[in-house]
Amino acid sequence: MQALIPVEQALQQLLAMMPVPRDVEMVALEHALGRVLAQSLTVAVDVPPEANSSMDGYAVRCEDLSEAEVLPISQRIPAGTAPEPLQPGTAARIFTGAPIPAGADAVVMQEEAIADDQGVRFTAAVRPGQNIRPQGQDLRAGESLLSSGSKLSAQAMGVLASAGVERVQVYRPPRVALLSTGDELVHPGQPLAPGQIYDSNRYLLTGLLQQAGVSSIRSYHVADTAAATAEVLSAAAAECDLILSSGGVSVGEEDHVRRQVEALGALQIWRINIKPGKPFAAGQVAGTPFIGLPGNPASSLVTFYLLALPALQRLQGMTYQPVSGWQLPAGFSRERPTGRDEYLRVRVDGGSLVPQGNQSSGVLSNALQAAGLARVPAGTCVELGQPLEFLPFSLLSG
Ligand code: AMP
Ligand code: MG
Repeated sequence: MQALIPVEQALQQLLAMMPVPRDVEMVALEHALGRVLAQSLTVAVDVPPEANSSMDGYAVRCEDLSEAEVLPISQRIPAGTAPEPLQPGTAARIFTGAPIPAGADAVVMQEEAIADDQGVRFTAAVRPGQNIRPQGQDLRAGESLLSSGSKLSAQAMGVLASAGVERVQVYRPPRVALLSTGDELVHPGQPLAPGQIYDSNRYLLTGLLQQAGVSSIRSYHVADTAAATAEVLSAAAAECDLILSSGGVSVGEEDHVRRQVEALGALQIWRINIKPGKPFAAGQVAGTPFIGLPGNPASSLVTFYLLALPALQRLQGMTYQPVSGWQLPAGFSRERPTGRDEYLRVRVDGGSLVPQGNQSSGVLSNALQAAGLARVPAGTCVELGQPLEFLPFSLLSG
């Protein structure tokens, strides 16, 4: 049997297999969360468009304060109005967010002012520029804002709105076929007959796909026969942009997925040097990219994060950015070196990484408490306090 492929090499191969999306559409900004920009955006207007007051108070010209103790109030400027130029020797009543009148060079906050019928006087020294937010303080017209391939966050939606962007051009999101394979699987809600288990991967992977911004998911259950596997793979290839399966890629004779992918397309990656997740497979079925995650739920979780998610991001049109974790000290030790790169489900306890519960690939429940994955490189032991790479689930969720 061929040697196990290092995970970094498998990832590069997998990324090269993913086509970038061709179809684009315009969407209203309010519907753009999680979508990937198919255009680069530059700022059209200064933000803020005019200098404005950061306080409720009085707009003045500092020069006038050396000549007069009390300044008469010549105008009132609420937010949303356009002021007259400031008459020399006067103050303007002004409110937070209102434009600074021409000629004024400072705003005195109302807590430092005493106003009466005569006008206003100030109880503290006044510096030029104080309490004024300059025009373009946040963004300058012409500045580049976001490049094509950026995934839009809530923050990005706010920033784009501040610059007056109403609609954005984004890629059409990929449609994903999600295949659960195995005669033992039944849906939650059904009674379990002897030999059966609930199909947890369907829900795990549906959630992970949704977190990654995929809303078009077509789920299939595939029986453990060559014919059923071939039929579903062909239908999925015709309808979707990516086939994501779990199970059926190991070495047993009931593992039909790998062989049917070879029959209908090609298998380009199979078996990688990680634990859990060794049987990971990838290729294409009738030209549609195929990713085969192992059936064990923890293996599905780990290989989704490490391999399927970056591939999916490429399919979504995102610019690939390698995820670099943080180095955190091991809160445990291990004397026996592992043969493969091992990804432990860990929690962070007092700043150190601690394996969460049973690390068997059949155990998923520890992922409830785990904060992410810790990588123990192949061939290494772990000493207490030794730095390990920590990949938080939040960083990986795309
Ligand atoms: P396989 O690679 O198909 O031999 O599956 C490996 C292990 O994962 C077996 O114990 C399967 O029962 C289990 N498994 C496969 N698919 C699922 C699934 N969708 N949900 C839960 N467990 C699964
Ligand atoms: Mg199976």
